Amino acid sequence: MDFDVVVAGGSVAGLLCAREIASKGFSVLVIEEDYEIGTPEHCGGLVSLAGLEELGIIPFRKTFDHMIESAKVTAPNGKSFTINSKKQKVVEISRRELDKQIAFQAQKNGAIIKVKTSFQEITDTGIRSNEEKIDCNIFVDARGVSSLIHKDRAGILSSAQYEIYADWIKKGKVEVIFDQEKYPGFFAWIIPSNEGKGKVGVAGRGINVAETLDKMLEERGNYSTIRKIFAPIWIKGPIEKFVEGKTVIIGDAAGQAKPTTAGGIFTSGMGGVYAGQAISKFLETNDETELEQYQKNWVKRFGKEFEKQSFARKILERIDNKTINKLFESITPEIIKEISEKDDFDFHTSSIIKLLGIKGSIKTAQALLGGELKKLLS
Ligand SMILES: Cc1cc2nc3c(=O)[nH]c(=O)nc-3n(C[C@H](O)[C@H](O)[C@H](O)COP(=O)(O)OP(=O)(O)OC[C@H]3O[C@@H](n4cnc5c(N)ncnc54)[C@H](O)[C@@H]3O)c2cc1C
Repeated sequence: MDFDVVVAGGSVAGLLCAREIASKGFSVLVIEEDYEIGTPEHCGGLVSLAGLEELGIIPFRKTFDHMIESAKVTAPNGKSFTINSKKQKVVEISRRELDKQIAFQAQKNGAIIKVKTSFQEITDTGIRSNEEKIDCNIFVDARGVSSLIHKDRAGILSSAQYEIYADWIKKGKVEVIFDQEKYPGFFAWIIPSNEGKGKVGVAGRGINVAETLDKMLEERGNYSTIRKIFAPIWIKGPIEKFVEGKTVIIGDAAGQAKPTTAGGIFTSGMGGVYAGQAISKFLETNDETELEQYQKNWVKRFGKEFEKQSFARKILERIDNKTINKLFESITPEIIKEISEKDDFDFHTSSIIKLLGIKGSIKTAQALLGGELKKLLS
């Protein structure tokens, strides 16, 4: 078999990359090791409508679950504030359906997709899958965090996410819960997919995520579990080089998920889009500098925001529950109103800066955190 491009990983980044390459008339094969595109779903499914639009996706009715109305953020001492997120136009989507929708776009353009086929190794002329040797000009690594596990374990946290039925899950109302003792360096989340149904998860450094999540759920009240997922998340930002010779690394495999939340549908997906465009140009011209344009475009769009998110993450990793409780005390209704009215789900460090009180009248954050904040503001 012979293709211009072989993509390993049939998820959001790999499929978008294939869609772009196929749209320019080049031959592209996507190999996915699982038995079904979009399954197992290891995602909360939160994404902005603006992000989806930029990815070139108008969600099908069965992809689109519902709009998110608000996000309640809770401190370790139980105090909370709620951001009205209607203006940010965030939706909860079904990843099972979204990935299939992108697969359909890619195949309509001419891409070939094979499931239950796994990438094994790079060869002199292409790659070897579990089935055969495949020749190609470019290999795209879109294997997600599994591709990073051997490179750098320090950037990886364990996560657990259960899909549950529980009458305390309210449609449209996301929750984020901070507690450095229970979820060190991260948080717990509740993402509704309907009234009484949703995804509840935890992540953190050095914790047993299954035990932690079981405990959190017990404290919440009655529930029934319908699905459990355990997956690593990457929170260290982009890797140094997205392109190595004729290998192009995209999506979570390139560290393109947000360092604050590990959300990557939009940012990893855009990695796939930019890479697909650059690979097509390279195939047209045979000029290798065209491949480099991919990293340049991604960094231009997300580089600064990801740097700030990494600083915000460093701050979170260093502060204790007492400090978080204090920071919550300094959050005024005006700050919450400003975030609700203006802020952006995908470029959210401006919200973090506001929440840390830097632009508010109370300078608690500066007193508590000192020099680190200057980097976040720069
Ligand atoms: C618990 C959890 C909740 C999340 N919630 C959100 C959220 O609400 N919003 C958001 O934006 N992001 C969320 N994310 C992140 C989001 O899921 C990822 O950023 C996104 O899926 C990255 O897409 P990707 O295509 O780069 O990689 P992945 O989606 O990880 O896909 C990689 C693909 O490669 C395949 N693969 C692996 N090895 C091989 C191989 N050897 N050969 C062939 N195929 C292979 C895998 O089977 C998989 O299909 C969440 C992640 C987790 C773990």
